[in-house]
Amino acid sequence: MHPAPQPLPVEAGSSAYGRLMDFSRQDPHAFWRMQASRIHWQRAFDQVLDDGRAPFARWFAGGLTNLCYNAVDRHLPERGEQSALVCVSQETGQERVLSYRQLHREVSIMAAILLARGVQRGDRVLVYLPMMAEAAIAMLACARIGAVHSVVFGGFAPASLAARIADAAPALVVCADAGFQNGVAVRYKTWVDQAMDIAGCSCPVLVVDRGLLPWTAVPQRDHDYHALRTQYFDADVPCVWLESGEPSYLLYTSGTTGQPKGVQRDTGGHAVALATSMALLFQGQPGQTMFTTSDLGWVVGHSYGVYAPLLTGMCTVLYEGSPMRPDASAWWRLAEKYRVNLMLSSATAMRLLKRGGRRAFRMADLSALRCLFLAGEPLDEPTAAWLEDALGKPVIDHYWQTETGSPVIGLPLTDLDGHTPLRRQRGSPGLATAGYRLELRDEHSGASCAPGSKGLLMAAGVLPPGCLTTLWQRDEQFVRTYWSQLPEQAELSSPSGQWRYATFDLAVADVQGHLRVLGRADDVINVAGKRLGTREVEEILLADDAVAEVAVFGIPHPLRGQVPVAVVVPRPDTGYQRSLLEHRLGDAVVAAIGAWARPRRIVLAQALPRTRSGKVLRRDLRELVAREASGDVAAPELQELQQALAAAARLDLPEPA
Ligand code: ATP
Ligand code: MG
Repeated sequence: MHPAPQPLPVEAGSSAYGRLMDFSRQDPHAFWRMQASRIHWQRAFDQVLDDGRAPFARWFAGGLTNLCYNAVDRHLPERGEQSALVCVSQETGQERVLSYRQLHREVSIMAAILLARGVQRGDRVLVYLPMMAEAAIAMLACARIGAVHSVVFGGFAPASLAARIADAAPALVVCADAGFQNGVAVRYKTWVDQAMDIAGCSCPVLVVDRGLLPWTAVPQRDHDYHALRTQYFDADVPCVWLESGEPSYLLYTSGTTGQPKGVQRDTGGHAVALATSMALLFQGQPGQTMFTTSDLGWVVGHSYGVYAPLLTGMCTVLYEGSPMRPDASAWWRLAEKYRVNLMLSSATAMRLLKRGGRRAFRMADLSALRCLFLAGEPLDEPTAAWLEDALGKPVIDHYWQTETGSPVIGLPLTDLDGHTPLRRQRGSPGLATAGYRLELRDEHSGASCAPGSKGLLMAAGVLPPGCLTTLWQRDEQFVRTYWSQLPEQAELSSPSGQWRYATFDLAVADVQGHLRVLGRADDVINVAGKRLGTREVEEILLADDAVAEVAVFGIPHPLRGQVPVAVVVPRPDTGYQRSLLEHRLGDAVVAAIGAWARPRRIVLAQALPRTRSGKVLRRDLRELVAREASGDVAAPELQELQQALAAAARLDLPEPA
């Protein structure tokens, strides 16, 4: 027997998928009405979209639904015994698998405890837990009773936690006694105590005791979750039917470009958007398993670690631990063990794993895995190619933001038939996803950009379902931060048509509309009057086999305005020679872009400084240099890099050859 011939890839734009996406823009009301049937509505909505107060959008206005019902209860008759949640902790060695029925029980218990402690519909519940089952259970329990969860990443220390407590003013906090970071215990409960003091908050605290570190209960305030769990074991808590626009959660952005913003998500639009993206873009099927490596404290964890897989009737895998321990094959072994079909991770994590070499990628049986999705940072072409080769699976990049809740630019692996591959371009996440009318506009003039020229990435009209509905209690700041109005409003018929949402990212499109995100607008530098995207240089450097990671940023120069400096983390196993490597990299940039773009210095480093969410920020590197100049010494682990960068920035050094 001959194997069935592989269909040839089709042009994404003209595929059935592409036509459906066009339809989502031409007739958003019809498109989203169709997609809304993916979830259960207790009462049908009166209006698909109410944009009378644009740029505020109310999707599925008048409809009543509940996220927890859709994610858990709805599946009980058909898949009650199927696995819903797998929690693996490499830190404690524990593995826990919950079926939909068991998850339903746990969520009911948690919901009953929240109610008994006085939490009401619309109240905020702050969740400060490591990657453990109770984190997802607490989120779903909030959804069940109409409370608004605000999950805070466990790595945030007391001051950051306090800022989020003060802003959200929770009616209750859920925390653990402790968690781990790279094998070191982190005192969650102690940090909560300190943060509550700083924020002047005295609400009840529910402590999920993992038996890792002793803790002292504050009388009248603290409650032991496990003790209460026995008490409420048989609790039956009905789902509260919420109006579609009622908030489901708050999530603060990583704050890499200023103060964290309290992104507020609705209920109905959120459910429909995630169910739609899972079906059309990720192409996950009921009964399949998804492993999202992101912490639940970030948006990727919210959307694809909890809600989207469960709304779809899939099983989701949560992992507590580092991808590098016990070795770089940890994630792949997990994917083998649980027959993971879809995996979602970040480009940052993959670059880290790449440093360990190819071998770790091939140490597990990944026959169930369909593809690996990445998001969070630009995925350069060389890394994408390397990964696809090392993994033997397609690697698909998606662009999105905390604000949008699901991908804005992306492509599915195959067309709607689930079979015909779509043509993808490495280095580009692809095309606008459902409902997005994306535009590139010149940063200064606001004019729209022709294919090939860089512009600010904007979305026209109100945002599709699932995006932020406002910033928590800051409607005015929401409009001021993200929205602008175009003068040509007279020509537009709908009230929302005149509005533009700013992503603050810079992108470029080709003639077919494939978009390439070049990075944050403030990462673009001006070299002798020419605009240079730091990503353009980074991509060239990453093509060198000896390079694992790289960050390019600009430093001031009296003649040229700014000049690029590159920090390069070499791969130790490649036996590179320092000066040869520096020359080779510089030459590669000259050959690809021009002599003007050659980095003034290439600084070799062991690692790059990262934000809590794992991103490398060019702004942080600029600040390291600026702080040295004003005598401000960096944290010990960054001092060497700070010295090297400061030396590179000193203009009395001769220009490189
Ligand atoms: P803050 O808004 O508080 O500064 P943040 O922007 O880092 O924080 P996120 O919402 O987690 O918080 O990150 C979204 C940003 O990440 C995007 O605006 C973009 O700059 C970048 N990004 C995400 N995915 C991609 C991708 N696939 N390609 C390029 N950039 C990406
Ligand atoms: Mg942002």
